[in-house]
Amino acid sequence: MKFKPESLMMSHGYQPEWSEGAIKCPIFQTSTFVFKSAEEGKAYFELAYGLREPDQGEAPGLIYSRLNNPDLEILENRLCLWDEAEECAVFESGMSAISTAMLAFLKPGDVLLYSKPLYGGTSHFITEVLTRWGVEIQGFQPTETPDAIIRRARAEGWADRLAMIHIETPANPTHTQIDIRGMRQIADALGTEDRPVRVAVDNTYMGPLWQHPLKHGADLVLYSATKYIGGHSDVIAGACLGSREVMMPIKTLRTFLGNMAGPWTGWLLMRSLETLKVRMEQQCANAQKVADFLSHHPKVEHVNYLGLLTEADGEAYRLYQTQCEAPGAMLSFNIVGGEQQAFAFLNHLKLVKLAVSLGSTESLAQHPASMTHAGIPPEEREAMGIRDQLVRLSVGVENADDLIRDLGQALSAVPVPEAANAF
Ligand SMILES: *Cc1c(COP(=O)(O)O)cnc(C)c1O
Repeated sequence: MKFKPESLMMSHGYQPEWSEGAIKCPIFQTSTFVFKSAEEGKAYFELAYGLREPDQGEAPGLIYSRLNNPDLEILENRLCLWDEAEECAVFESGMSAISTAMLAFLKPGDVLLYSKPLYGGTSHFITEVLTRWGVEIQGFQPTETPDAIIRRARAEGWADRLAMIHIETPANPTHTQIDIRGMRQIADALGTEDRPVRVAVDNTYMGPLWQHPLKHGADLVLYSATKYIGGHSDVIAGACLGSREVMMPIKTLRTFLGNMAGPWTGWLLMRSLETLKVRMEQQCANAQKVADFLSHHPKVEHVNYLGLLTEADGEAYRLYQTQCEAPGAMLSFNIVGGEQQAFAFLNHLKLVKLAVSLGSTESLAQHPASMTHAGIPPEEREAMGIRDQLVRLSVGVENADDLIRDLGQALSAVPVPEAANAF
């Protein structure tokens, strides 16, 4: 029988007889594992070092927690179910998952193509760190079509050096979407069998439930597990998933950078995964109600939420229909006015907390222009639609009517902009 991922999150990959019948996987808080015999130790290392192919049904043995630990392995097996991936690697942060994946596939002289805007940490790693190691970087705006990118790559002479494409869709906080299949087209047009171009999608914004990039042609899906996967604002972690072949160099590099998650983090995330679907579905239902409320409010100019797209939105609606399975629980909106009005709104919230991060059980609000996206030059920020009046909201599992009442009272406290009076 084939069960759905949500049915398997409590048990998949763990057997109670391994641990005195304990229904839950314990925390294997251990650095090293005892071999039954020297022969067994030798056999484990032969597989770990790739000295021979595994025998029929032979699984890699537990050696040392930087290489493998039951809490990580079972967690990775469970994460694979959501994205229907062959392999997963869990890291101590989303940034370590992203940076390790990039380091695994890029070398000096290679080109990395990436969408704008990216998460601030990723953007810094690309522009300040990768470039120091001789990696050439090429950013693109979501308005540039795959065909135009291919033409530009050829005209500018980097088409045969492209090694990796990294995107975020929908973009944070503007919700601009990028066609994952379009990225696959670029990779296939410019890559060769000997020099494949890898497509990576940072899927943090949609979590493992609402968008499955591997099904749309991506090679790698990356998560900050700090967000929906952890889901309780109490742990920092990351994950990377893909085929066995693509994951091999990433898992190997993780072993040598030593940035795998520890057993305690693994255990916490397994606990979180049991409620992933119920949490995310409640968050999504709440977000749709909140978005409907905001879109009719006189002090709100525009709401960015996938669940508000209609056929009139053309390509954005088409992408949402083909690429996403639900509108998610992230939204952003322009308050009538500017920074003063946005700040007044944020300062008057009672139930919703003023904090960055996203995907947690509690609702969070923040001001991208002065907070998460403050590092982007103002003109570039403006061009991306990240204006001073923009507020970003991550919707939690609270009662939707309570959230709407809180947002409503905070909007009531927002002063009417002077410019509006003058008209
Ligand atoms: C938070 C976040 C990251 C970084 O993850 P950490 O767990 O904080 O290292 C990367 N990408 C996106 C889209 C994020 O929201």
